[in-house]
Amino acid sequence: MITCFGALKERILKDGKCLEGGILKVDGFINHQIDPDLLEQMSVEFIRRFADVKFNKILTIEASGIAPAVMLGFLLHLPVVFAKKKKPSTMDNMLTTTVYSFTKNRTYDVCCSRNFLCRGDKVLFIDDFLANGNAAKGIIDLVQQAGAELAGMGFLIEKSFQHGGDYLRSQGIKVESLAVIDSLDNCRISFADDSIAC
Ligand code: 5GP
Repeated sequence: MITCFGALKERILKDGKCLEGGILKVDGFINHQIDPDLLEQMSVEFIRRFADVKFNKILTIEASGIAPAVMLGFLLHLPVVFAKKKKPSTMDNMLTTTVYSFTKNRTYDVCCSRNFLCRGDKVLFIDDFLANGNAAKGIIDLVQQAGAELAGMGFLIEKSFQHGGDYLRSQGIKVESLAVIDSLDNCRISFADDSIAC
């Protein structure tokens, strides 16, 4: 069953803006200006949803995943690792993969040090958006290269009309999204679950 988190849904309806090409702008509370109270509420919801899953580390991807991942790591007292989009010249022992970004219409390399994503780690991946699932697929590749284990993936906002979530769930991955949007057609935000509980 798809459920969404009421506080985030309300905020998206209040402050989210649709752009051409199925993009939702949430820079007033997630992507540029950040609302820490909402972030805390969202992290508490992730803790509830992943309560039955064991993990020792939180993994995200820069830049927009860092804030929600750090809030969750802070509440759970767990380390947070972010995959980098540019390989630092000072960093060796790197895991690298390539990701296609549909918002930027280009591919980019994503990397992470083997010192921080290690064999035997059980990681929970957190990101702001799930769209086509390309960033998530890159992360799965990094986790496999490291010999680590993926405990689950949590997203603040999933755009189900881009089907990344279908792919991840078909792979048996536990995916939790706090707000699921099934259409941005005609710049109208439509949620996958419009029930009162949502
Ligand atoms: P995917 O790799 O799943 O296709 O896209 C996920 C990544 O693209 C996220 O990390 C996010 O940064 C960006 N993204 C995808 N869709 C949106 C959107 O509608 N709005 C914003 N602000 N970012 C998006």
